[in-house]
Amino acid sequence: NKIIRIGIVGYGNLGRGAELAIEKQSDMTLVGIFTRRAPSDVQPVFTNTHVYAYEELSQYQDKIDVLILCGGSASDLPQMSPELVTMYNIVDSFDNHAKIVDHLHHVQEAATKSGKVGVISVGWDPGLFSMNRVLGEIVIPDGGTHTFWGEGLSQGHSEAVRRVTGVKHAVQYTVPIEDVLEKAREGIGADLSAADRHKRVCYVVADEKDYERIEQEIKTMPDYFAPYETTVHFISEAQFLKDHQKMKHGGFVIRSGNTSSENKQAYEFSLALDSNPKFTASVLVAYARAAFKLNQFGETGAKTAFDIPLSFLSPNPEKI
Ligand code: NAP
Repeated sequence: NKIIRIGIVGYGNLGRGAELAIEKQSDMTLVGIFTRRAPSDVQPVFTNTHVYAYEELSQYQDKIDVLILCGGSASDLPQMSPELVTMYNIVDSFDNHAKIVDHLHHVQEAATKSGKVGVISVGWDPGLFSMNRVLGEIVIPDGGTHTFWGEGLSQGHSEAVRRVTGVKHAVQYTVPIEDVLEKAREGIGADLSAADRHKRVCYVVADEKDYERIEQEIKTMPDYFAPYETTVHFISEAQFLKDHQKMKHGGFVIRSGNTSSENKQAYEFSLALDSNPKFTASVLVAYARAAFKLNQFGETGAKTAFDIPLSFLSPNPEKI
């Protein structure tokens, strides 16, 4: 009984993840992918997935219940989410933390007028991590919150390493510093900076004669690496292609504090993701179900992860 009809907008890493995640749902069907590129340039995972042009979107309003927006946060979503919520229920993963409130207001204004639901900024951070930070702060009001990211691939830092002369391939992983993580569990270090909590580990393919200079250039790169403990590993191209193609990520949200002078308490949530975009897409798909159900119950407007009951996310809401 596939009742929720989904459209995917934008087909990058997240779009591909959404196509795969929808396949795992018992109550959803994928109507198609909408792209700003020529549809023939997009190769979906499944041969029976339809690909349409972005401009055709207005024609599907009676065929699609929810659009999953898989564009980038920097320039796609600020424009696409308010625009598309005038026609459809939408879900996005907008992750520019400093601009989430502005984004919420823009989607709210458009969604209230159109009578649709716009779920914004879901995924893991923002998303599941936000929910766990807030839960930890609710149940342990006297304490500190510690967020660690990684071990995970950072796109921006990997690109910075690739710009160093002589680098053929490179990835950069952000890794929590183990003893700082341990101390967080005991309630120590809530005021530490990201650079105090994380180290950076690079895997680089280059010619041996350039190793020393490349390592030096990476470690002294201002903003990206200079304040961080950085390790550079030189590996072969074959090893790079074998071990470093997945976009793994994850991290920890820790809330530690006291419920009385006798009792220290710690709340911890962690994720170990083999693929950041595929996991994020799986979260977006669950929120698409919630957007559909909320709208069926007459709800409209912009929502964040904080506004949505678990029973609306679950395909089996009777289970507890
Ligand atoms: P991406 O692969 O760069 O894709 C972004 C858009 O670029 C696609 O929707 C696609 O739109 C276009 N595109 C992709 N491949 C292309 C190609 N070969 N040529 C031309 N255009 C191409 O980005 P992503 O990894 O999917 O991530 C999207 C956003 O997700 C990120 O900006 C990030 O903010 C967000 N995110 C959020 C979380 C969270 O936890 N909240 C976690 C991870 C990521 P068209 O098909 O229309 O061309």
